[in-house]
Amino acid sequence: MKIKVGIVGYGTIGKRVAWAVSKQPDMEVSGVVKTRPNWEVYSAIKKGYPIYTLKKSVETFRKKGIDVSGTFEDLLKDVDIIVDATPAGTGAKNKDLYSKYGVKQVFQGGEPVDLCEVSFNALVNYDRALRNECVRVVSCNTTGLVRALHALSKVSRLLSVRAVIVRRGADLKEIKKGPIEGLVLKPTKPPSHHAIDVKAVLGDLDIMTYAIVAPTTLAHMHVIRAELANNVSKEEIMQAFKTTPRIVLVNGDILSSTAELREFSKEFIREKGDIYENVIWEDSVWINGNEVMFVYAVHQEAVVVPENIDAIRALAGLITEPEESIKITDKVLGIGGWFK
Ligand code: NAD
Repeated sequence: MKIKVGIVGYGTIGKRVAWAVSKQPDMEVSGVVKTRPNWEVYSAIKKGYPIYTLKKSVETFRKKGIDVSGTFEDLLKDVDIIVDATPAGTGAKNKDLYSKYGVKQVFQGGEPVDLCEVSFNALVNYDRALRNECVRVVSCNTTGLVRALHALSKVSRLLSVRAVIVRRGADLKEIKKGPIEGLVLKPTKPPSHHAIDVKAVLGDLDIMTYAIVAPTTLAHMHVIRAELANNVSKEEIMQAFKTTPRIVLVNGDILSSTAELREFSKEFIREKGDIYENVIWEDSVWINGNEVMFVYAVHQEAVVVPENIDAIRALAGLITEPEESIKITDKVLGIGGWFK
């Protein structure tokens, strides 16, 4: 029996998670909830997902010739797990309804940090999410940070982390966000929320994060400085990166920008150009005793997709080992092994 998954909020994240769910051997898309009959609903129809909407919107959808399978609540009667990928803060308002129908929930990073007991990353706390009622998959930037820091912590304990996060100003489809010029320090009083979010996953850690919003839609870029408990060698750190799932290393002589990375991904890795991995520039890795610095890119629209898939498996509880779930997800989505 496959895990029956409903997607509420079929936008940038929701549509990618739905597609990834549809490819997994142990889960299926039971339906997607759309509140508005905009262009994204036609993407769901084309992929064959049953469409659900709010009771008050059923007629509006039908008048546009869209076949509606039922209401939001009808879908809740028919699923095991909901992935809520509605705009930040909306998911929290839906939580009681999900609980009323006994449906488990995967929320996104825009929701409050205390919405669920677990702020999730598959590499770190799959076991805590196992058979839980609810998890919050942390944001794209936090997912990138957690993966990178988890890799370092395999070599030596983290004493402190300082990070500068250059954030994309908007996703490609977002016409009302910016900036279209200038770099914006946001918040102007750091730390940015990422420091708090990283601690929600990794536990107590001396971490300070600055976020700068940049006029780009392609990806984020992070500059990390970490202090470790022991002196380390470059080989040890590179080995940790190479052996951590969802991290790839690239050579700056071949790929030097997020623009080239996205184009490279479209040409050679994935048709849609989505990048699920942290992409670390290998020559940026700099070691000085117990001090490590490095730079990587995070494709904001895609990086949380494999984490959502593992979160579904953890809540369902059918696969108890994180390594096993990660292996299935990564094989199905073709993650890693870029230059093999
Ligand atoms: P989005 O605006 O692209 O998509 C949200 C979708 O939800 C839209 O289709 C909207 O019409 C729909 N919607 C709005 N209200 C709804 C409701 N009440 N019920 C059902 N659907 C509703 O947003 P997004 O970028 O996909 O972000 C979703 C969540 O994922 C947020 O928590 C965000 O913080 C998080 N996230 C976003 C990114 C990113 O880069 N876009 C990355 C990681 C995490």
